[in-house]
Amino acid sequence: MKAAIFDPANQEKDGDRSVLEVHDINVRDPRPTEVLVRTTTSGVCHSDLHFVDGKWAAAFGGLPAVLGHEAAGVVESVGDDVTYVQPGDNVIMSFRPFCGECYWCLRGEPNLCPDPAGAQLAMDRLNWDGRPVVQMASVGSFGEYMLTSQSGVLKIPEDIPPAEAALVGCGVMTGVGAALYTAKVPGGSVVAVIGCGGVGLNVIQGCRIAGASRIIAVDILPNKLEYAEQFGATDVINASEVDAVEAVQELTSGMGVEIAFEAIGNVHAARQAWDMVRAGGTACIVGMMPLGSEVSLPGPEFLQEKKAIGCMYGSTRFREHMPKLLDLYRQGKLDLTGLVSKRFALGEINEAFRAMQAGEVARGVLDISQP
Ligand SMILES: [Zn+2]
Ligand SMILES: [Zn+2]
Repeated sequence: MKAAIFDPANQEKDGDRSVLEVHDINVRDPRPTEVLVRTTTSGVCHSDLHFVDGKWAAAFGGLPAVLGHEAAGVVESVGDDVTYVQPGDNVIMSFRPFCGECYWCLRGEPNLCPDPAGAQLAMDRLNWDGRPVVQMASVGSFGEYMLTSQSGVLKIPEDIPPAEAALVGCGVMTGVGAALYTAKVPGGSVVAVIGCGGVGLNVIQGCRIAGASRIIAVDILPNKLEYAEQFGATDVINASEVDAVEAVQELTSGMGVEIAFEAIGNVHAARQAWDMVRAGGTACIVGMMPLGSEVSLPGPEFLQEKKAIGCMYGSTRFREHMPKLLDLYRQGKLDLTGLVSKRFALGEINEAFRAMQAGEVARGVLDISQP
C-alpha cells in the first residue's frame, strides 16, 4: 500500500518540519481479533505536527512511522474471531483501542486503558522492505490501509460523509468531549478557550452545545478568531495585540472565567488558562504538551480551590459518545462540515502540514480513497 512515511533521521526538513515521502510499504494480514480498514479520509491534526516538527519524534525510538490518527474508512477484511464488524462496514477509527478487562475499562474510562496488548503503538503491523514501521496510535491513517484491534473501530451508518466522520475520530471527540465529559461545562457557564485550531474550535462548539453563556476565544490569528465566532464564541481576543489574561479579566468584570481550556499544547498557554480562572474554577488542559515539558502554577492559589485537570480524548467512551455526536450533527447542532476547510491528496501531505502550521485551515483532510 502507499503511505506517507515519517522518518526524521533520514528526511530533509522544511523549517522545523520533516518532509514526509510517499512509499510503497506492506501491511500484514489481520490476526484473529484485528480488522483491516481501507482509509477513505484522514484529518491532519496538530498532534501529527508535534511529531513532524520534532516535539514528540523521540517517542518512536528512531523508527520510521506512518502518522495520522483521525480517520474514517471501510472494513476490508477481519480476523476469524471478529464479531463487531464485517467487510464493507463504514467505521471511524479510535486512537485508543481498549482491552475491556482492566481497572480503567471496568471503571468506564476506556480512554485511559493502558492497552496491555500493545495495540496502541503497534510495531509489527507495517514494514518497509522488512524494516518495522511504527503505526501511530494504532491508526496510521496517512496510508491506504489501517490495521487495528476490533476495539479500535466504531461502526457508523452510511449516511455520514467520510470527511465529517474522520474528524469525529480525534479533533471533534477530543474538543467537544473536553467540554461535555472532561470539564462537564454546566449550562450558563462563563468559559475561555485558548487556541482555535481543530481541537479548540470543537471545545468552543462543545461549550455552545452545553449552553455556556459566554465563550471567550483566544488566538493570535484573525482568521482563526473568525472561525471561533462561526463555531459559537461570544467574544474573541487576539493575543498578539493584548495580554489575553488581562483581556479576559476585563471582559468578566475582574472575576475571570469559571472554566478555561488550553487547546494548543503550550506550557505558557496552560499557565494563562490557570490565570484566567476565578476562585473555585477549573483550568482544563487539552493540548498535547511537548515531551519533557513542565507547567508551573502559583502554590498559594490552591487555597482558592482552583483546579487543573488533564484530558485524554475528551474523556470519551467512544462507542457510547461518538454516536451521540453523530446525532447532534444530524440535528444541525454540531458543525462538522464547516471544519473541513481544505482537501488534499495523500501526496500533498507536506502542503497540508504547511497550511495547518500557517493557521490557514480549520481542518485540512486527506482524501485517500473513494468510499
Ligand atoms: Zn489528533
Ligand atoms: Zn482496558
